[in-house]
Amino acid sequence: MASREKQLSELVQTSDPPRSQLAELVGRLTYPFLRGEPPEPRPATGFFTDTTVCIGCKACEVACKQWNQLPSDGFNWSGNSYDNTTELSASTWRHVKFVEQFSPDPAPTDPVHNRWLMMSDHCKHCLAAPCHQACPTGAIIQNEFENVYIQADICNGCSSCVAACPFGVVARSDLGGHSHKCTLCYDRQRDGLEPACAKACPTQSIHFGPVDELREHARQRVEELHRRGVTDAYLYGDSATDTYSELHSFYLLVDRPSVYGLPDDPFNPWLHMLGDYARSIAGGLAAIVVLLVVVFLLR
Ligand code: SF4
Ligand code: SF4
Ligand code: SF4
Repeated sequence: MASREKQLSELVQTSDPPRSQLAELVGRLTYPFLRGEPPEPRPATGFFTDTTVCIGCKACEVACKQWNQLPSDGFNWSGNSYDNTTELSASTWRHVKFVEQFSPDPAPTDPVHNRWLMMSDHCKHCLAAPCHQACPTGAIIQNEFENVYIQADICNGCSSCVAACPFGVVARSDLGGHSHKCTLCYDRQRDGLEPACAKACPTQSIHFGPVDELREHARQRVEELHRRGVTDAYLYGDSATDTYSELHSFYLLVDRPSVYGLPDDPFNPWLHMLGDYARSIAGGLAAIVVLLVVVFLLR
């Protein structure tokens, strides 16, 4: 990966070939109406985040801000452990959570009640993403890597995606009025680079790669932890449930999901909406039948 970065930095930078002013004008006027060639599908990529080796250094948070040129959220003390970011937002696409579990007993014997859980949180890149399903403008797409990507220039700021995401990930910016979240560093992936956050992580808590390989690696890691006595270790989101699809960014946790601020049983709101649509159609049909009966009787 490092050699690929060196190759890219050594490429000669060129601009577009010069065009006549008329051709330039015609090109600009017709470009929005041209249908481009869709990119070739690539193996689905994602993250496996092993929270047991996260040290809470926030290098991932900083790398995400730097690479994506996201503004600072200010310097505010939250009073919540070392977490002064507090949540994901339109300008914070990665957030390191700190969960303190300390016993009031000054000499406790159980290490499970004296530990610090840390977890680097971000978009889960759900296989069937409610934000994607809710977007009325087509601004949210699944790109060729099967990552969920927001095209901010098409977003109309309606915030349907904000309401739909069960993980509280996506947020609308007060500055531009568009929704934003982690892009899974689409620009870097297209150049054959790994995402900035994974590259910056010093403990390899954040693994990036093809989802199939990540799943295999994650399951081996859980088995290894079980052998070493960490029997609480399990994977969150690596496979689908009755109410939610698999996540392409999944986690290894050692406590209940809600302890980390994740829903214990995520639910896709679309499942409710199917019933709502069915009831609306049934109600409409019933109204038409009643209307026809009334018209028939009045004749
Ligand atoms: S975590 Fe939320 S924002 Fe990310 S893909 Fe899933 S529904 Fe969309
Ligand atoms: S993949 Fe890129 S955009 Fe997403 S959290 Fe990591 S650095 Fe930020
Ligand atoms: S860079 Fe790695 S170790 Fe540091 S906070 Fe992020 S995930 Fe944890």
